[in-house]
Amino acid sequence: MFDIQEIRSQFSILDREVNGKPLVYLDNAATSQKPNSVLEVCHAYYTELNANVHRGIHTLSQLATEEMELSRRKIQKFINAEHDFEVIFTKGTTEGINLIAYILTQKLQKDDEIIISYLEHHSNIVPWQMLCERTGARLRVIPIDENGVLQLDYLDQYLSEKTKVVSVNQVSNALGIVNPIEKIIAKTRKNSDAYIVIDGAQSAPHFDIDVQKMDCDFFVFSGHKMYAPMGTGILYGKREILEALPPFHGGGEMIATCSFEGTTYAGLPFKYEAGTPNVGGNIALGAAVDFMNRVGHENIQNHENALLEYAQRQLLEIEGLKVYGEKAKRTGVVSFNLEGVGIASDVGMILDKMGIAVRTGHHCTQPIMNFFNIAGTVRASFAVYNTFEEIDRLVEGVKKAQRMLG
Ligand SMILES: *Cc1c(COP(=O)(O)O)cnc(C)c1O
Repeated sequence: MFDIQEIRSQFSILDREVNGKPLVYLDNAATSQKPNSVLEVCHAYYTELNANVHRGIHTLSQLATEEMELSRRKIQKFINAEHDFEVIFTKGTTEGINLIAYILTQKLQKDDEIIISYLEHHSNIVPWQMLCERTGARLRVIPIDENGVLQLDYLDQYLSEKTKVVSVNQVSNALGIVNPIEKIIAKTRKNSDAYIVIDGAQSAPHFDIDVQKMDCDFFVFSGHKMYAPMGTGILYGKREILEALPPFHGGGEMIATCSFEGTTYAGLPFKYEAGTPNVGGNIALGAAVDFMNRVGHENIQNHENALLEYAQRQLLEIEGLKVYGEKAKRTGVVSFNLEGVGIASDVGMILDKMGIAVRTGHHCTQPIMNFFNIAGTVRASFAVYNTFEEIDRLVEGVKKAQRMLG
């Protein structure tokens, strides 16, 4: 049974007003709201459990360690990793991708190639450009067509023995396009020895993730976009690969022995978790996974797909409204502009006056905006607690903005 009112009752923030109107929160691709069960876990951590992990033999330290390791196993199950130590706690997708790009430095040399796509978030572009600067490698970018769909024949052309990394997102944050990562991974495996990195920031909140079936080498995502606190995230890496690569940050927690003559490193996952982690946040990320499991992944997907279809159908009835990636397979996001009427941020400001929160701008994806020759879009993005009535209010608001700006 999928009871939307029962789900909404678990998110206190949804009861608040903004500018005198009930909040309609449609900026979930930037960050989702957090259910009370997750907030209670954060609170309980600091009121009952707070201690540093893995270091003390005292009771609180042991309890905090147990809770964090339990959370790691919940996330292991959530993404179906083979081992719990393949699950590394990070502060988010950005840190995850930077970590990977850093530890691969020694694996690349001049004229090697890194393949990404036109649909990437800046955090899946810039770390690779920095890796190119360190090594002399080159970036190759899979282009998109006018529907925002990746043109995979370019991937076929680009793949060679020079390809050392292929890094793409599973779902685009700017347009919500679902990329054919199964095909991308199969082609990459067949034609190169490249490391395969999947940016799951926009897929982990919506899809069932199975990193073993996917056969990627790395999978990264952020907790805050899937009902968990900010400053949490996960880097998954295959055991053999993580064991063979060097550490990222040096410091406490990641060593086996340390002396001035030299240091030996701890095993996984601690080798990649230097310093004091966000213990409360990491435990709360496990609670967010519990929340999603309770609602049911199929229910989440069905509801969000229904919202997207409903929103797109109604928005397209507005004359002069263009949806980017209209014909592509998408999830969770509708990104649009009112042609000839102001700019995206004007629309966003009018919606805000009506209590409706959407994102406007380039969504950290300037190459996509350049491709469509626009400065930005209005992006409405959905989570499991959104309703059809909220979409009606969005559509009403967009019509009002058109009248006011036209
Ligand atoms: C949000 C996002 C990122 C960056 O995530 P942070 O949580 O800001 O580190 C990277 N890629 C995609 C596709 C995203 O949506």
